[in-house]
Amino acid sequence: RPFFRAIARELDEKDLQLSETVPPQETDPTDFKSRFLKKIRKLGEGNFGMVELCLYDPKGDQTGELVAVKSLKTENESSNLRREISTIRNLYHENIVKYKGICNDEGGANIKLIMEYLPAGSLKEYLPRNKPNIDLKRLLLFALQICQGMEYLGSQNYIHRDLAARNILVENESLVKIGDFGLTKSIKDDKEYYKVTEEQDSPVYWYAPECLINRKFYKASDVWSFGVTLYEIMSYCDRENSPPQVSVTKLMLTYLNTSGIIITVTHLLIPVLILSSKDVCLWLQVYTQIRRCWSHAPENRVDFKSLIKEFECLLT
Ligand code: ADP
Ligand code: MG
Repeated sequence: RPFFRAIARELDEKDLQLSETVPPQETDPTDFKSRFLKKIRKLGEGNFGMVELCLYDPKGDQTGELVAVKSLKTENESSNLRREISTIRNLYHENIVKYKGICNDEGGANIKLIMEYLPAGSLKEYLPRNKPNIDLKRLLLFALQICQGMEYLGSQNYIHRDLAARNILVENESLVKIGDFGLTKSIKDDKEYYKVTEEQDSPVYWYAPECLINRKFYKASDVWSFGVTLYEIMSYCDRENSPPQVSVTKLMLTYLNTSGIIITVTHLLIPVLILSSKDVCLWLQVYTQIRRCWSHAPENRVDFKSLIKEFECLLT
């Protein structure tokens, strides 16, 4: 007996020693180490950022997970990416791309945003490639999901400011998510709009008149951009009919208003699309929604809540 007790005590002590020397691993799951991030390929790039597909493989045995990693092309934009990170980490919605963490162990300016990887890329790549298999109803489902994500974003008092097909990511044939929060601004409770102060590249062809003329962004300005996005979706993101093409070169539909600012008139192309469509009736109903998004005055524009109702109706 004393013998067994002695062994038991010894084992106890060993356990104690073990638990003292090796504390239970408490790692922050949102803290990604750059040495474990293995680049697989580039997924895309925009004005400021670059997104790469990486394998995060801490065990080094190829069992890790695939993630999308956003970094900046030039380091002096790092405050923008930091702002994007602080926005996206607060957002939790089915139709918004999921934040996973950051990688910042190479020092200040080299910060990276780690997101879930959406295998089918953006609508801009996905729609032209899969056109034969995607019917009008499927397009309307995507439109509905974008509205649901945008309604949530607005409820959190954010304005996206870069809503466009290139920034809608595709999880699979029946789920899309809003991405790219690089230009997203938070509006204070006592304010209705965000006023742009710094000069920068703006996605002008997606912008509402008040953004171009007064540099003011309301939640309703996102609705205008959604109208342009809906137009892109309905034309399967056909390059020839893309908003910049349509407005500047192909149809010369751009006109200058009194303050000399470009306003696009994509309206004129839509009847052509409608007439060439197999489902003219449904298209006409979508066109009605696009026009409601493009009311000149932001206060007269439809909001995402009622767009959700309309699309739900069209889908039943
Ligand atoms: P930027 O701010 O430079 O425009 P985005 O966040 O829009 O960067 O990403 C650029 C492109 O990279 C997107 O248009 C898309 O094709 C691709 N991409 C971005 N995030 C993901 C992701 N999570 N999964 C798959 N592809 C992505
Ligand atoms: Mg983008």
